[in-house]
Amino acid sequence: MLTASHAARISGVLGCEATWLSEALPFLQDRGKSNVWHIYGQRVDIRSHLRGMHPQVCPRCIHHDGYCRKEWDLSITAICRRHKCSLVDQCQRCHGRLRWDRPDLGVCHCGAILQSTTGQDINPGVLMILSAVEVLMMGEPYAPVTWLSVGLPAIASDLSLNGLMALVHAFGVNDAAHQAGRTQQFTRVARTHEWVGILERGSERLRRFEAANRSQLQELAELVSQSLLVRLAKAGSRGADAQVGLHVLEQLFGKTEARRLHSNHIQMELFE
Ligand SMILES: [Zn+2]
Ligand SMILES: [Zn+2]
Repeated sequence: MLTASHAARISGVLGCEATWLSEALPFLQDRGKSNVWHIYGQRVDIRSHLRGMHPQVCPRCIHHDGYCRKEWDLSITAICRRHKCSLVDQCQRCHGRLRWDRPDLGVCHCGAILQSTTGQDINPGVLMILSAVEVLMMGEPYAPVTWLSVGLPAIASDLSLNGLMALVHAFGVNDAAHQAGRTQQFTRVARTHEWVGILERGSERLRRFEAANRSQLQELAELVSQSLLVRLAKAGSRGADAQVGLHVLEQLFGKTEARRLHSNHIQMELFE
């Protein structure tokens, strides 16, 4: 993975300031066994939430603006809010995955000009998550009222960027029940089209969660990723993130089970 430690070596090749580049690239804070990534001043606990070596772009934005947007470095930004289309992480001609060392921003290493996918109807909940990601990336507090107006749960209003990504991921990662426990689901960097699905399912289930009765909560509990929620609730997360994680675990699995999962995880962290 390309990280801040490479900044000095590659800044000459890219023709930019090494200091600027080292801030723009993710760096790893080694905290014993639990590594934490930082990018653009934001903390990211789950490595696969960063695209790393696998860029994704909106070719239309590149055509208009002439640069790549920093939120594209986050896996959750799988859709362009302006052009209402999926981002692109693969060349339509050679079918290879996009590389950092391509000849131009909008050109694949094979020489083909990258084409946008066609625009589509994106549900308002997904657009709101994406706009929240952009705002959080600028380090600004997000207005809770805006969340409520599109039906996203009020509990999500105080999350950090890291927390929001984990919550949406937890709710949207499984496309069917009983898929929990597959660790590679969140260690592997998912392709852009997979994250489009995560966003769609995640926003729709979060909306259902808010108004769910007992049996609907049980249905949801079969669908969400327990391990991602436990990570959200884990010690060391920002205050609101941990509270939201624990609250969602309690709602879905009951208080006793939620506490058991939570304390098991803390034990595991201590002995990792
Ligand atoms: Zn775009
Ligand atoms: Zn190509």
